[in-house]
Amino acid sequence: MTITLAAAHAAFDDWSQSPVARRLAVLEQLHSGLLARAGEIAQTVCREVGMPIRLATAIQAGLPATVTRTYLDLLPSFPFRETVGNSEVQYLPVGVVGCITPWNYPLHQAVLKVVPALAAGCTVVLKPSEVAPQSAYILAEILDSTGLPPGVFNLVCGPGATAGEALIHHPDVRMLSFTGSTDTGRRVAHAAADDCKRLALELGGKSASLVLPDADLAAAVKGTVNSCLLNSGQTCTALTRLLVPADRHDEACELAAAAVARMTPGNPLDEATRLGPLASAQQHRRVLDYIRLGLTEGATLVTGGPDAPEGCARGYFVKATVFGHVRPDSRIAQEEIFGPVLSCIRYSTVEEAIAIANDSDYGLSGSVWTTDIDRAAEIAGQVRTGVVAVNSSAILDMASPFGGFKKSGIGRELGPEGFGPFTE
Ligand code: NDP
Repeated sequence: MTITLAAAHAAFDDWSQSPVARRLAVLEQLHSGLLARAGEIAQTVCREVGMPIRLATAIQAGLPATVTRTYLDLLPSFPFRETVGNSEVQYLPVGVVGCITPWNYPLHQAVLKVVPALAAGCTVVLKPSEVAPQSAYILAEILDSTGLPPGVFNLVCGPGATAGEALIHHPDVRMLSFTGSTDTGRRVAHAAADDCKRLALELGGKSASLVLPDADLAAAVKGTVNSCLLNSGQTCTALTRLLVPADRHDEACELAAAAVARMTPGNPLDEATRLGPLASAQQHRRVLDYIRLGLTEGATLVTGGPDAPEGCARGYFVKATVFGHVRPDSRIAQEEIFGPVLSCIRYSTVEEAIAIANDSDYGLSGSVWTTDIDRAAEIAGQVRTGVVAVNSSAILDMASPFGGFKKSGIGRELGPEGFGPFTE
């Protein structure tokens, strides 16, 4: 498949020289449009992805507007020209940006790229995932209604193997900003290298929740389960490894089972539902395979398993599953499952716990639970991941940088760190 990027290429000269006030006006209208259509966005993503409507309203519809607001706040003070000694440093837009996004938080992940790129004066070609492309059409409609000149924002839909490949290899694209799996990220990185394109990668995770011996175990387990099951586990930052002192392992497993029992599965459009189905048949197969693997790897099944939840035989539902006595080097503890599966791992010393947390190809997120806040900051600094929460599993502030160490990615999104890469 070939695609022509003539529109994005042609629009670049004009948009790249547009005054900041013009770009702010577009983003202001985008922000209003996202708020005005929040209900429709939540419904759309709920139906496509399966996230329960209450959460979809807060997160899938809420975050894109919040992120847009952070760039509205940042843009007026960004130093597009600054003096360094006898030099003037100018920050110019990088060019046509190819954005490729996944299906799990489809509009949020698109906005994380599209908004700073447009704010920097770049033109954009967005390729959303074919699994959940509809919110990208809403984004296109809102941007169109702002009077953005033709060609500044472009939407190309189609599978990664065709539309995505065409975009990453296109010579007119000067930057690739990709969110998705580490395997696809590698392909994107190769394509970028072939053509010396700038590259930003947000990839997978296998994040650890490190519960210290002095922590409030009940709060730690509840927070970890909430994070692990968010969007039915289809969340890159999900806390999927629960690290607990060996002598509190059984208690932690009991608490996890109780927390999981409160997560009512069902129709995601129902306000009472806490756990929706997975997004696709492929995801469903993948997660069930991992649950079966956990059983053969010798972990203890605390709750859940490969059968469908009661009353949810139709659809891609999976029982929220907790494994105990999980070996840190087993595949369910090392590989990203991307489903509602928690692995409980025992440790003897805090040093060992940090080593287990860091024994991962990934480094995206994590949390430390303790009553000693100074120690928490010290330990957080030893966990080799982009973000570490303390006594919380809350989402980070949308104006602070987000991204991964190791195979979780290259670069950062959000805040000034997420804006700079769209400039030369
Ligand atoms: P994929 O890597 O399969 O897909 C991501 C995007 O890449 C989709 O738009 C897909 O298109 C496209 N794509 C697939 N193959 C190619 C290709 N050969 N060339 C160009 N583009 C291609 O990931 P998923 O969509 O399955 O998303 C899940 C993964 O994303 C998980 O590993 C998760 O951790 C990670 N993720 C990371 C985040 C982060 O911020 N670090 C945030 C959210 C998810 P299509 O689907 O249409 O085929």
